[in-house]
Amino acid sequence: MHQIYDFAVIGAGAAGLSAAQYGARANLNTIVIEELAPGGQALFIDKLENYPGILEPINGLELAERMQRQAEQFGSSFFEASALSVRKEKGHFIIETSAGPLESLTVLIATGARHRRLDIPGEQEFVGKGVSYCATCDGPFFKGKRILVVGGGDSACDEAIYLSKLSDKIVMIHRRDRFRAQKALSSRVLSNPSIRVLFNTVAKEIKGDSKVRSVVLENTVSHELTEEPFDGIFIFVGSTPQTAFLKDIGVQFDESGYILTNPNMQTSIAGLFAAGDVRATPFRQIVTAAADGAIAARSASDYIDEQRGQTYR
Ligand code: NAP
Repeated sequence: MHQIYDFAVIGAGAAGLSAAQYGARANLNTIVIEELAPGGQALFIDKLENYPGILEPINGLELAERMQRQAEQFGSSFFEASALSVRKEKGHFIIETSAGPLESLTVLIATGARHRRLDIPGEQEFVGKGVSYCATCDGPFFKGKRILVVGGGDSACDEAIYLSKLSDKIVMIHRRDRFRAQKALSSRVLSNPSIRVLFNTVAKEIKGDSKVRSVVLENTVSHELTEEPFDGIFIFVGSTPQTAFLKDIGVQFDESGYILTNPNMQTSIAGLFAAGDVRATPFRQIVTAAADGAIAARSASDYIDEQRGQTYR
């Protein structure tokens, strides 16, 4: 007879890995499905300095590896595959994956969100030739070079600060007249002598030959266009939730496509939970994703107990 898991976690970012640890500790037969290396967005963090209790800044990859080992130590198993769809049949969930179907009593969606694009001429053409979405991956290629950073959120500020250690020729543009980022980060950008900030400015076109040479900028107030030479353009304009594989199950989303949950991480479908960046939440951090995962695992455990007519609390 094929195996029926208690708790199937789709996505091994901070939310999924934390849920896997809590799920396994709650004695749930837990499997984590991930198509890439565990870590999610944390993999892009060079130095994580705001996780409570971590005094020496830790690399996002290292934290993810530790979280995976911890989940495995408590008995979670990991399955490398892409989730293609999720459906509910006779009270159980069937997850179709690129490596075959899995069956589980509960499912946690922890697939996170992927970087958004500007959709301007030249962006697609110059990916890998000067256009990047990851400063820690590609920043070292632009040591001492002219770098444009686009965006006004925490990611853009974090990454501009990281890039300022590699070059003192950084221009950061944001479409509004103030940053969206947390104050601590935005003030560090504004006081950084290596970063020139241009508010009310958008990128209209990326130009080059075999690599990026310049970017056309527009002042959104005066509508004046200028062309400035750049070697690299780093784009951090938010993210899009990874939910395409959920189109058949009828779960409820907010207007931006993030999954709606109650405070117990329960979605609109009984037994289906969501945690971390993929759910509608006001603050997306590793610490909040990890907390979501812990709550989701406990809710999954409660749900299974209820289904079996057992209540311990
Ligand atoms: P975000 O908070 O959604 O910010 C996206 C930024 O890009 C906003 O400033 C937005 O402008 C701008 N933007 C969006 N579309 C644009 C477009 N088409 N053209 C130009 N600009 C555009 O995304 P994020 O910075 O990636 O952060 C995602 C989540 O992760 C947040 O919850 C954040 O707090 C968290 N995070 C935390 C840390 C940290 O604590 N160290 C680091 C990274 C990320 P508007 O402001 O005008 O909307």
